[in-house]
Amino acid sequence: MKVIKFGGTSLATPERMKQVAEIVAKENAIVVLSAISGTTNTLTEIAQLLYKKEHTEAKVIIQDLKVQYLAYIKGLLANKDQYAKAEEIIKHHFSHINSFTEDLFTIHEEKTILAQGELLSTALFQLYLEEVSIHSCLLPALEFMRIDKDLEPDTYYIKHNLERELKFCKAYLYITQGYICRSVFGEIDNLKRGGSDYTAALIGEAIQASEIEIWTDIDGMHNNDPRIVDNTYSIEHLSYNEAAELAYFGAKILHPASIYPAKLSGIPIFLKNTMQPEKKGTKIEQTVGEREFTAVAAKDGITAIKIISGRMLLAYGFLRKIFDIFERYKTPIDVITTSEVAVSLTIDDNSNLEAIYEELKSLGEVSIQKELSIVCVVGNFSHETKGAGGKIFDSLEHIPIRMVSYGGSQHNVSIVIETKYKKEALVALNNGLFNQK
Ligand code: ADP
Ligand code: ASP
Ligand code: MG
Repeated sequence: MKVIKFGGTSLATPERMKQVAEIVAKENAIVVLSAISGTTNTLTEIAQLLYKKEHTEAKVIIQDLKVQYLAYIKGLLANKDQYAKAEEIIKHHFSHINSFTEDLFTIHEEKTILAQGELLSTALFQLYLEEVSIHSCLLPALEFMRIDKDLEPDTYYIKHNLERELKFCKAYLYITQGYICRSVFGEIDNLKRGGSDYTAALIGEAIQASEIEIWTDIDGMHNNDPRIVDNTYSIEHLSYNEAAELAYFGAKILHPASIYPAKLSGIPIFLKNTMQPEKKGTKIEQTVGEREFTAVAAKDGITAIKIISGRMLLAYGFLRKIFDIFERYKTPIDVITTSEVAVSLTIDDNSNLEAIYEELKSLGEVSIQKELSIVCVVGNFSHETKGAGGKIFDSLEHIPIRMVSYGGSQHNVSIVIETKYKKEALVALNNGLFNQK
C-alpha cells in the first residue's frame, strides 16, 4: 500500500479537490490531507484574537471562513443529499469553533481550533468520493497519531493503533488527516506547521508502505527557492541526506522531520505536482549519482551567539560547558565555528535566549546578533573534492559573510549572513553554481 499526501494548495478549490480524487481513484493507498489552503492561517489568526479576548473580531473572521466553506461545497457536490450532509458537517465544526469565543482560552482550545481544518477537508473529500462512487474509509488520525512527553511521535503507539483502525473498515482507499495528533495526555495536539508531510512519513513507516508520495503545487524539489529566485529547476533524484538538509534549511516543500521515518525503512519519497501530474517530480531515495552542487536553500530567523574567552586557549572541556547550557534549555544549535579564543554558534529558537545569555556570561564575553539567515549549499563535497569552496565564495564575493561551516558533512556547506542579503546571495549562488543567468 502507498501513502499519498496532498497539501492545502492541492485542495484550494473544489476543482482541485476533484482532481485529487481522480489521482487517487484507482490507488490502494492511505491518502493524507492537509487543511484547505489558508485555513490553518485563518484558524491561527482566530486563536490569536481569542487570546486577546477580541471576541467580536474573532466572530467576524469565523463567519467569513464559514461562508467560504459553504461556497466551496456548492462547487464540490452536485448531489442534494451529499450537499446537505456537507452543510451539516460545516455547521458542526463552526459551532465548535464558535463555542471557544465565550470562555477562557488556553493552548488546549487553540490546538482544538487548529485541528478543525484537517477534520473539515477530509470529511468533505470523503463526501465527494461517495458522490462519485469511490469507496473509501475515513481513518480518524486522533485515534492513532500520538506524540510522547518529549513531543516526538510515539511510533509504537501509532503502528498498533493504526493497524486496529485499518481492520475496522475494509477498503482499497483510506483517507486520514495530516498534522493533527494527540498529546501524551490524550489532548488534541499537532505536528507543527507543515506537519502533514510528517504524518504521511510516519504512516508510511508504520505500514511499511511501498512509497510515500507528497503532492503539492510544484513539480518537486527545485535547486533553489522558487519563491525568491527565477530560473530554478526540478531535481529528478535526491538522496535522503540531501533532502533532509534542504528541508531543514528552508526548502518549504517538505517538513524537515519527514525524511527520517522514510529513510529508516528505505521507503522512497516522490514529490509530485497536483496541477501537472504528468511531470516527473523528484524521487528521494538512499543514494544518487555524484554531482558537485545539488541545490541551495535558506533558513531565516537565525541568531548568532559569540563567546570570547581567554580561558579557551589550550583548555579542554570548554565546549562541553557551553553545550551543557544549551542542552538544559532544550535549544538546538545549528551551525558552530571555533577559533582558539572564541566560539560562534547559531540557534533558531530564541525562547530561552535571555537565560542562556546570562549563563554564558560566566564563561566569557558574549555577543548576540539577530536577523540572520543560514544559506545552505547541498552537494557532494568529499574530502578529495577540489574547488567547490572556491566556486561558492566566488559567487558570494559581494555578500558579507558572518560564519561558515564546511566539512561537517560531505553534503553541506552552511553560510551565515544577514537576512537582508539573502535574496542577493541565493541569486548569486544560482548564477555561480548552476549557470542560470
Ligand atoms: P503544501 O501546501 O502542498 O504542503 P507548501 O507550501 O508547504 O505546500 O510547499 C510547497 C512550496 O514550497 C512551493 O510552492 C514552493 O514555493 C516552496 N518551496 C520552497 N523551496 C522550495 C524548493 N527548493 N523546491 C520546491 N519548492 C520549494
Ligand atoms: N494545515 C497545516 C499547516 O498549514 C499542516 C500542513 O499543511 O501540512 O501548517
Ligand atoms: Mg507543506
